[in-house]
Amino acid sequence: MFKKSIKAYEDAKIVIPGGVDSPVRAFGGVIGTPPFITKGKGSYLYDVDGNKYLDFVQSWGPLIFGHCDKDIEKAVIKTAKLGLSFGAPTELETELANEIVEMFPHIDKVRFVSSGTEAVMSAIRLARGVTGKNDIIKFEGCYHGHSDSLLVSAGSGMATFGAPSSPGVPSDLIKHTILSEYNNIEQLEKCFKESSDIACLIIEPIAGNMGLVPATQEFLKACRELCTKHGALLIFDEVMSGFRASLHGSYGSNNIQADIITFGKVIGAGMPVGAFASNDFIMGHLSPLGKVYQAGTLSGNPVAMAAGLVSLQKIKKDKELYTKLNEKAVMLTSGLQKVALKHNIPLQVDTRGSMFGFFFCEEVPANMKEVGKCDFKRFATFHHEMLKRGFYFACSQYEAGFICETMTKKEIKATIKAADVVMGML
Ligand SMILES: *Cc1c(COP(=O)(O)O)cnc(C)c1O
Repeated sequence: MFKKSIKAYEDAKIVIPGGVDSPVRAFGGVIGTPPFITKGKGSYLYDVDGNKYLDFVQSWGPLIFGHCDKDIEKAVIKTAKLGLSFGAPTELETELANEIVEMFPHIDKVRFVSSGTEAVMSAIRLARGVTGKNDIIKFEGCYHGHSDSLLVSAGSGMATFGAPSSPGVPSDLIKHTILSEYNNIEQLEKCFKESSDIACLIIEPIAGNMGLVPATQEFLKACRELCTKHGALLIFDEVMSGFRASLHGSYGSNNIQADIITFGKVIGAGMPVGAFASNDFIMGHLSPLGKVYQAGTLSGNPVAMAAGLVSLQKIKKDKELYTKLNEKAVMLTSGLQKVALKHNIPLQVDTRGSMFGFFFCEEVPANMKEVGKCDFKRFATFHHEMLKRGFYFACSQYEAGFICETMTKKEIKATIKAADVVMGML
């Protein structure tokens, strides 16, 4: 059933390192070969062998309305016909910035870039530029893109491939990155004691790159208070959770105001977009207003802006969207947990809006170390058997899953039914 994908993978490996343009796509942590995709429609993916899958990955988050949403498709085609890029300002950028600013009382300005990696990298430079300090605190298991100084214990693809950090990153660049344990206030306090040169603390407030592991309210509160006390900026990396967990990202559930927020994924609806946002004072340091340099030939690309704009407008129009998405996420995860229990398999689950996670382990993990105790072999078999039955889950236990608007309760019931059979084999 994967014959053509196996051949496509072999062909790809000759001219593309590992056959993929982003390592997690290689299915390194699970069994089998990655299906090569030909198209998507609504909640479904189709591969070169003609297999059809219910898609719980959704391009790793961006597609909250599923594949080929008619409104987004229309806006993209209309905009593309007017020219793909100008390297000059367009009104679309202002419109999309307005949609984002409107959702956060503490955000005045947004700068668009072309990826989440770029957004975070720029946010860090801005934080250093504003504070005049050098050190950054990051947490084990949080992923903030692949820029040099953030590629330390970065969860997700890095964890799947077992590389603690990457060759090619000089230790001189890492020496300003202080690592701390997620959800551990005591350790964080120590970091602030050890360095008086902390420019910023960066965190995924709802971590989705070590599986779904939300930070506790107390922990985020401590992050906020410690940053304020020590004159460091708090950066919420919401490239994944922004417009996925709620209309207001993590702010919707924890009410904590970060100094800088980074976005990506959903705000581009499948097109390459990232953004970082902050108040007037902080953004005033950014070139051309201030001295912190940051730029991009394709930044704020009109076609990408059009896709993001329609996506956010649709999100805002449906007042019940996140309630409905979460209902389906809870239905899925509680269903998976129930069938796991039936087969005597311990399974921990959680959801935030349209995000969900499940772990084959005895206790709910609160940090990267605890996620590491999960049964990865069991996950790999689960993943492979579900894939064979037409259910496309993320190919690593270190990844969150996503519900999209087009997914029906019937489809989720079918997923649970298949999981019942598969859990019986684990
Ligand atoms: C995906 C992700 C990034 C990186 O975004 P890219 O568009 O892949 O560069 C950064 N931070 C978080 C939290 C992410 O989930």
